[in-house]
Amino acid sequence: MSANYKYELVGVLGFPVAENPTCVMQEAAFVALGLQWRYLTIEVKPESLPDAIRGVRALGMMGVNLTIPHKVAVLPLLDEISPDAAIIGAVNTVRRAGDKLIGENTDGKGFLRGVREEAGIDPVGKNILVLGAGGAARAITVELALAGAGRITVWNRSAERGEALCRDLKQRTSANAHFAPWRGTCPVGPDVDILVNATSIGLFPDTKAMPDVDFKGARRDLLVCDVVPNPPETRLIKTARARGFKTLTGLPMLVYQGAIGFEMWTGRKAPEHAMRAALEAAFAP
Ligand code: NDP
Repeated sequence: MSANYKYELVGVLGFPVAENPTCVMQEAAFVALGLQWRYLTIEVKPESLPDAIRGVRALGMMGVNLTIPHKVAVLPLLDEISPDAAIIGAVNTVRRAGDKLIGENTDGKGFLRGVREEAGIDPVGKNILVLGAGGAARAITVELALAGAGRITVWNRSAERGEALCRDLKQRTSANAHFAPWRGTCPVGPDVDILVNATSIGLFPDTKAMPDVDFKGARRDLLVCDVVPNPPETRLIKTARARGFKTLTGLPMLVYQGAIGFEMWTGRKAPEHAMRAALEAAFAP
């Protein structure tokens, strides 16, 4: 048998990036399928991103993930941008197609899969209240709008960001989107089907924090979702569950967005159980 010492390379470019857990999940997937691939966690300063993308091309890397602060800055450096990533205005996954680098965004798609497959809810026609208007909120609301959500209300502290997101949703997806400035407590009314915390409130190490929401008027079959993946159960999720609501943590979104990226890169079905187990072990206290 002839030897093959060549590895296919993928990875994440970010700054800072050392604590990004994606390598744990992707490397577990390569091991599970016996693939000769490696996922590298690479620190790239903002001013070095153009050189880094030239490096991705020169090294023949099969793709990369982008994280803070590169998700928007990478757009002009790529050959094509997928239609949903263009509306979101950010790329979290780059895949190679021949000599071309294509920008994708898998965050919202990962979230949607969690809603459909783990919570068993179809977002078509649903009334959705989203807290936040940053990168995660943009990805989630664009995919929800494209999937046929009935109404999307965005609560955000910064009015400028929230209004810009709702304007993009209305103009570019024809969504029924509304902005509400976040002052004080956010009431969850009986007309809300799905509440999504897409802010970073509650993210490790600030695990005691929780978005200021009032569930008094909420319906009993409300679905409460949190995008924060670490800790795996945020205070919001624990509070919602204690009140009897259905919940969806940030872990499925993280696993599914990674699984979608894995499938784009390798063309193989992602071993999602192995990926999830690896992340759970990484996040264990
Ligand atoms: P951004 O910095 O782009 O956005 C942060 C958002 O949180 C903004 O809307 C910001 O409001 C809001 N926010 C932060 N702190 C507060 C506060 N104290 N009070 C009110 N609003 C606040 O971050 P991302 O969108 O990239 O990330 C948000 C979260 O999503 C993070 O926890 C991240 O870990 C998670 N995430 C999870 C993924 C997963 O797969 N599970 C994937 C991607 C992200 P304002 O605009 O007013 O500043």
